[in-house]
Amino acid sequence: MILFNNVSMVYENGTKALENINFYIDKGEFVFLVGSSAAGKSTIIKLIMRELVPSEGTIIINETNTSFLTHKQIPYFRRKIGVVFQDFRLLQNKNAYDNVAYAMEIVGASRREIRKNVPNVLSQVGLTAKAKMFPSQLSGGEQQRVALARAIVNSPAVLIADEPTGNLDPETTMEIMQILDDINKRGTTVVMATHAEKIVNMMQKRVIEVDHGAISRDEKKGGYNYVN
Ligand code: ADP
Ligand code: ADP
Repeated sequence: MILFNNVSMVYENGTKALENINFYIDKGEFVFLVGSSAAGKSTIIKLIMRELVPSEGTIIINETNTSFLTHKQIPYFRRKIGVVFQDFRLLQNKNAYDNVAYAMEIVGASRREIRKNVPNVLSQVGLTAKAKMFPSQLSGGEQQRVALARAIVNSPAVLIADEPTGNLDPETTMEIMQILDDINKRGTTVVMATHAEKIVNMMQKRVIEVDHGAISRDEKKGGYNYVN
C-alpha cells in the first residue's frame, strides 16, 4: 500500500531532509507520524502525494512507483489519495455541499453520483444540517469536517492528515479523531502527522517517529514518546 524503500531526499539547495528511510504501511492501517519540527514529516507526506520524487530509493503507493509517473498520470494517481490540512483549505465562495461536490466534479463524476455521494459523506461527518453554510459561517471543527468529507468523497485508498487538529480545541479535536477513526474502520488507510501528544497516547495506534531525517521509532501500538 505505502512502501518506502531506502528513501533519501536531498532538496535542491543541498538540505538533506531524509536519509535511508524504510517503512511499509499496509492497507487499512492507522499510522501517526510524529517527530519534532524539521524532522522530515512534511517531506514524507509530499513524497507520498508525489509532490516530490525521492533523490534515492523507491516509493510505492497503491502499487505505483511514484518515480515512474508521468505528469499526465499524476492527477489520476492523486485521486487515490485524500488529504486534509491544519488550515482546512476550503473554497471560501462555495458552501459545504459545493466544496465536497467540487472534488467530484473535477474528477468527472456524473451529477447522479454527486447527488448520491455528497449527502452520504456529509452525513458521515455529521454535517447534513449545515450543507448550505459557507466556510466563514462554520466553526473550525465544522470546517475540518467539510475538508474530511471532501477528502473521502472519491473513496481514496489512503487519507493523509497533516496536523489536522492543530487549530482545534481539545473537545473538537476528539470529534475529528472519532471521524478519522471511523473513516479508517471503513477501510481507508490513514496517515496522520501530528504534535498532538495526548491524542497519540490515547489512540494507541502505530507510531512512526522521524528524527533528523531518519526513522527513530516504529511501534505497532505506541504513544507520542517512547516509553520503555
Ligand atoms: P517537518 O515536517 O517534520 O517539520 P520538513 O519535512 O518540513 O520537516 O523539513 C525537513 C528538513 O528539510 C528541514 O531541515 C527543512 O528545513 C528542510 N526543507 C523542507 N522543505 C525544503 C525545501 N523546499 N527546500 C529546502 N529544504 C527544505
Ligand atoms: P445543480 O445540479 O444545478 O448544481 P443541485 O440541486 O445539485 O443543482 O444543487 C443546487 C444547490 O443546492 C447547490 O447550491 C447545492 O449546494 C445545494 N444542494 C444540493 N443538494 C443538496 C443537499 N443534499 N443538501 C444540501 N444542499 C444541497
